[in-house]
Amino acid sequence: MIIKGKKFGILGMARSGLSAATKIKELDGFVFISEFKKEDFITNSNEIKRNFTCEFGGHTEKILQNDILILSPGIPRDIPILQKAIEQNIEIISEIEFSFRIKHPHSKIIAITGSNGKSTTVSLIHHILQTAGFNSILAGNIGTAFSSYPIEKSDIDFIVLELSSFQLELISKFKANVAAVLNITPDHLNRYKSFDNYAKTKFNIFMNQNHQDLAILNMDDKASAKFTKMIKTSLKYFSLNSKTDIYFENKSINFDSKQYPIQRSTIQGPHNIANIMCSILAVSPFKIKKDVIQKALETFSPLSHRLEFVQEIEGVKFYNDSKATNTDSVKYALLSFNKPIRIIMGGAGKGEDYSILTPYLHIHAKKVYLTGDTIAEMKSTFEGSVDLAINKDFEDIINMAFSESEKGDIIVLSPACTSYDRFKNFEERGNKFKEIVSGLKK
Ligand code: ADP
Repeated sequence: MIIKGKKFGILGMARSGLSAATKIKELDGFVFISEFKKEDFITNSNEIKRNFTCEFGGHTEKILQNDILILSPGIPRDIPILQKAIEQNIEIISEIEFSFRIKHPHSKIIAITGSNGKSTTVSLIHHILQTAGFNSILAGNIGTAFSSYPIEKSDIDFIVLELSSFQLELISKFKANVAAVLNITPDHLNRYKSFDNYAKTKFNIFMNQNHQDLAILNMDDKASAKFTKMIKTSLKYFSLNSKTDIYFENKSINFDSKQYPIQRSTIQGPHNIANIMCSILAVSPFKIKKDVIQKALETFSPLSHRLEFVQEIEGVKFYNDSKATNTDSVKYALLSFNKPIRIIMGGAGKGEDYSILTPYLHIHAKKVYLTGDTIAEMKSTFEGSVDLAINKDFEDIINMAFSESEKGDIIVLSPACTSYDRFKNFEERGNKFKEIVSGLKK
């Protein structure tokens, strides 16, 4: 795409919008940034004003004076000004689509979406590629905007992208050399009209793929099966339960007549075996030696806040799974230990049905500690099926779980909810958990 001389309207001053704005300026295009929030709520507003033409406190008709609009993933597509833009045939794209259009053709894209496991999987793929000596970058939903890298230059071999369903909404020409949907379980139902709508958006990741590209799906995921007809390219499956293209048997991952033992892998649990299988499939077109992949599995640094071991105090082990913001991730937390755990749950709800967890809690939880805004809802769901304790205060509930535990117990923060009732984000919640735990004494 030629940027020079073109006028871009950017809606939203979040990381990806600002990154696209900077790139457009670098490439001699014109930028107008429009932000819904008032200027007082934007921390670096002075710097933004210095660098770009912009408006705060609402999106005015000024944005209609541009050739193309780039929309932040958080902004709903049905706001009136966007309707007007559509009527005037102004193209609306996402920062992912914009970056795809300017990236150098040499760089290959490996794109991953799913309800859970995206960050872990893209980080592992990136690590495998780097271990194999490739120049790989990691971008998208994981925290660094796609357009913030020198993607228009030819020296990047691989762009590994974590894509949320929101980021997959406004793509049209985007094409991934390798694309995968890890799983689709209920999440973000407060944004989508229905589960099918949410699931279908995820399948946009396979859009425009052709016979040279690779699509990857999880054979164990029932929701994915419904949409396979949207895939037009070669499709490979991973599975924990069936012998398919890549599968798990005898403590090893089996692929292409080779075994990858997972005992020394730095990430464990059934969900992580699925993530590893998806990663091995994702790099399979690029002829990386088995030993290099095996070494990468054993040297990968696990991400914080995903079933992260915190410390052991008086024989009680603590794990921080603050990123578990939906029921499926909590299910896998429960399945990842070889004995029942004391689990701390609750936070800000997303409209999910928690009863999916009841049978798992019944078997794998020694006691359930409820906190946060979802106390009433979770209490009425789990009452009678599991041993429950309740405390609105985050610190008090951790203290309670510890004071009731005995040597050998495991305490896991795995909330099934977002952190927005008490914290800025899941990182702040997880860090607070770790801080409280390190101050614990019986
Ligand atoms: P995402 O980026 O999709 O949110 P993460 O890798 O950050 O995924 O993990 C988020 C949560 O989901 C963590 O609690 C983690 O333990 C759990 N998780 C990771 N992989 C999977 C998976 N394949 N299936 C279900 N839960 C998973």
